Parts: sequence; structure tokens; C-alpha cells
Amino acid sequence: MTDTVDCVVIGAGVVGLAVARACARQGWETVLVEAENAIGTGTSSRNSEVIHAGIYYPQGSLKAQLCVRGKRQLYAYCEEKGVEHSRCGKFIVATQEGQLDALRAIRSTAAANGVNDLRWLERDEARAMEPALNCVAALESPSTGIVDSHGLMLALQGDFEAAGGMLAFCSPVTGGLVKPGQPTLLKVGGDEPMELLATRVVNSAGLYAQQVAACIEGVPQQSIPPVRYAKGNYYSLTGAAPFSRLIYPVPEEGGLGVHLTIDLGHQARFGPDVQWIDTIDYTVDPGRAAKFYEAIRTYWPALPDDSLQPGYAGIRPKLAEGKHGGDFVIQDAREHGVSGLVNLYGIESPGLTASLAIADEVVERLNMN
Ligand SMILES: Cc1cc2nc3c(=O)[nH]c(=O)nc-3n(C[C@H](O)[C@H](O)[C@H](O)COP(=O)(O)OP(=O)(O)OC[C@H]3O[C@@H](n4cnc5c(N)ncnc54)[C@H](O)[C@@H]3O)c2cc1C
Repeated sequence: MTDTVDCVVIGAGVVGLAVARACARQGWETVLVEAENAIGTGTSSRNSEVIHAGIYYPQGSLKAQLCVRGKRQLYAYCEEKGVEHSRCGKFIVATQEGQLDALRAIRSTAAANGVNDLRWLERDEARAMEPALNCVAALESPSTGIVDSHGLMLALQGDFEAAGGMLAFCSPVTGGLVKPGQPTLLKVGGDEPMELLATRVVNSAGLYAQQVAACIEGVPQQSIPPVRYAKGNYYSLTGAAPFSRLIYPVPEEGGLGVHLTIDLGHQARFGPDVQWIDTIDYTVDPGRAAKFYEAIRTYWPALPDDSLQPGYAGIRPKLAEGKHGGDFVIQDAREHGVSGLVNLYGIESPGLTASLAIADEVVERLNMN
């Protein structure tokens, strides 16, 4: 049987849920198809749950724009829906004089992105606020926070369904066909295979976005950017969190450095690091602990021996290597020529923060073509 709908969103991670909610609220009959049997089992439940301020990304990039906009939207949404969150703030720390220029550069990039609330702290000032900290200087970001990502996804799902949207679990998109001037045909597998014809399709399949685009006949293969997976391993800390704010070192290639985040239950975890991998695998190698101890002790020398336990891992869908890992790619008909199709590629950090802003951007693109 082939059903015809206004819109299909592929993938019920935080971004797919936000997009589906926004589409349903446009009055479009929207189906959200998810390969797994629950929402948010991919990257959306394997991250740091940080509401990023928008500090590091190159000026004018989608990451910069959508993070800053998305942060404001997210705080307001959490307030409105009662999603648990905390505006706990964060420090970015220079632990050697040689990192001070990098810290100043971060402050300038942040200002260019419209993040004007950073405060420069000299060592004593920073240590008065976080006594366990080793640093020569720090930048304080008061608008950084943390959010219950699952609570957020449940709220988005609730809004989506309240707006008439339909969520189909165990429904992997396995193929499709686009023909000029006609709705896109999607083949959906699982226990109850079906075909959907949709005037609008949003590919929000996260790590599998390239694979999904490639299985839809008629999407130009050259429009699909290659993906590289950068695993981020986390270690959790046994015992009480030593800091009340998030603590980040100066960023490293491919990630933000082994930082300390705190969850809403006040448990501390460290990570994610950067491990380039070829196949998706979430096991945390206990052998990576030595590097964590070394990195953490640069800013927290009192880290006790044997206090880190392997935690969990998430995987970044990188479109480029290097410090910023490429920008988000939101591709519409202007890039791939398929009317009504939006592909989301490289939605790594700060995708959780930016989810509501990404959703608005997608709706705008769908309304354009
Ligand atoms: C280590 C790490 C730390 C991060 N930390 C932060 C942070 O602190 N703050 C922040 O803002 N961002 C952070 N991010 C980024 C953020 O987690 C992601 O940008 C966001 O979760 C991406 O959501 P998504 O919906 O695009 O992808 P996903 O959550 O991966 O969802 C994609 C969904 O598509 C489904 N799917 C796949 N293939 C198919 C198919 N064929 N058919 C149907 N469904 C399919 C999957 O099952 C999955 O549910 C981090 C990312 C990583 C990896």
C-alpha cells in the first residue's frame, strides 16, 4: 500500500524530532519514521548534554548562527515545557602562558558570533570561584548550560503528536525514488513494510544520513558529502564532582578537548576525546584512560588515581577533519536539484543546542522550494 503525505522526516533523534514538530506545526501532514524502536537512541543520547553558547565556530557559519539562535530558543522552550536544565556556566581554561593567545582568539570569535557575555578571569579570580582549578587564566561563559536531552526529546515528541504528527518506530527507510515534478517515493522496511509518497522529505538520519540519501534513486551521488566518524569516549568520575561549572581546556583538533561536564544529578564525567573510526562501535576502550588522566590533570591536578571508569561513547559524523570539523550542511533543491528534499549532513556538536533553530531553517528551505 502507498500512502501519500505532505511530509516525511527520517530519523527521530533530537534534530529529526524538532524538524518533525516544526513541519507538523506548519499544518503539513507529517510522518516521522525511525529505524529503532524508540526516540533518540543514536547520537542524541550519546553526547554531553551541554547547551553551548556559540563560542568557537567560525563567524557566519551555520554552526555559529544556529547555535546562538538555538541556545536562546532552547532555554525558552525548556522554561515553557518544564524540561530540566541548568544555566550552570562554564570556564575555558589556559593552563600555560602559551595558551593565552588561543584564549584571546576564542574571546574574539565568540564576540564575532554575538556571544558578548564572556568574562576574562585572571588565575586568582578563577580559583576563587573554582578552588580545585589549575589555570593561568580562564574565560567564563555564563550562558552555557546543561539540559536533560531525553526530557527535551519527549517534549518535542509531545508537541509533534499534539500537532497531528505520526511517529512510526521500527521503520527504516531502505530505498526510494525521485522523479521530476512528482512526490518522492520512500520505501520503508521493518515488520510492516510500506511505501510513502511525500511532497517534502527531510533526511535527518544522523550518522546514516549519507546512506539514506544514497539509497534514494535520483539523488545525485555527487551531492552526498563523504562522512568520517570521530568517536568521542567518556569516562565517569567516582565520587563528588570537583567543580560547580563545566571546565573546558583550550580546544584540540577535531573536538573541544577532554572537558568536564556535570549532569543534572551533579555527577561528573570527562570527555569526549577524538578517536577516528571506520565502523560504528560504541565500546569504550579502558586503555584510553591514561590519556584522560594526563589531560585532566593539566587543569585538575588533584584527580585521584583509579577514579575514572569507562563510561559511554558517541560518534560525530564529521565532514572534515581539523578543529571545527566542517560546518553543518543543510542541503535543499538548490544544491541537489530535488524539489522538496532537505538533507542534513554533519550534524555533530552543537546539534543538540541548535536543534530548534535547525528545524526553523529546514522549514524555511522547504517553503522556498
Ligand atoms: C560525543 C558527542 C558529544 C556531543 N555533545 C553535544 C553537546 O554537549 N551539545 C550539543 O549541542 N551537541 C552535542 N553533540 C551533538 C548532538 O548530540 C547531535 O548533533 C545531535 O544529537 C544529532 O541529532 P540527530 O537527530 O541529527 O541524530 P541522531 O540522534 O543520531 O538521530 C538519527 C536517527 O536516525 C535514525 N535512522 C538512521 N537511519 C535511518 C533510516 N534508514 N531510517 C529511519 N531512521 C533512521 C537513527 O536510528 C537515529 O534515531 C555531541 C555529539 C557527540 C557525538
